[in-house]
Amino acid sequence: MSDCIFCKIIEGSVPSKKVYEDERILAFHDIQPAAPVHILLIPKKHFASMNDAGDEDWPVIGHLHQAAQQIAREQGIAESGYRLINNCGPHSGQVVFHLHYHLLGGANLGPLCTTS
Ligand code: AMP
Ligand code: ZN
Repeated sequence: MSDCIFCKIIEGSVPSKKVYEDERILAFHDIQPAAPVHILLIPKKHFASMNDAGDEDWPVIGHLHQAAQQIAREQGIAESGYRLINNCGPHSGQVVFHLHYHLLGGANLGPLCTTS
């Protein structure tokens, strides 16, 4: 996807602070951290959101969860705790339409959800 910021990060034309990479996924620091640890995990295959995941995509989504567990350990937040968030669609506030998870931790994250 030529106009997708996360695809550009994958191809290297937009810089990122990489945390983990393999043939299927990439993890990098969020540019506007909302917690002391704020890492994004993305599949290298472009699809816009959880609504667009097909049958063939569940293995890589599982792999993202597995990588999040490992990264949480490496970042030293496994025991203190963390949140793994996927935003999907307008009510979630999703702004980048390439599926991603936020891994947040390093401080008390407060209540899960607020509405306005
Ligand atoms: P979401 O609201 O779930 O779509 O979150 C998108 C996230 O991507 C936000 O937390 C942004 O700060 C982050 N983001 C956008 N552009 C970049 C970038 N170039 N590098 C790192 N993180 C980014
Ligand atoms: Zn993309």
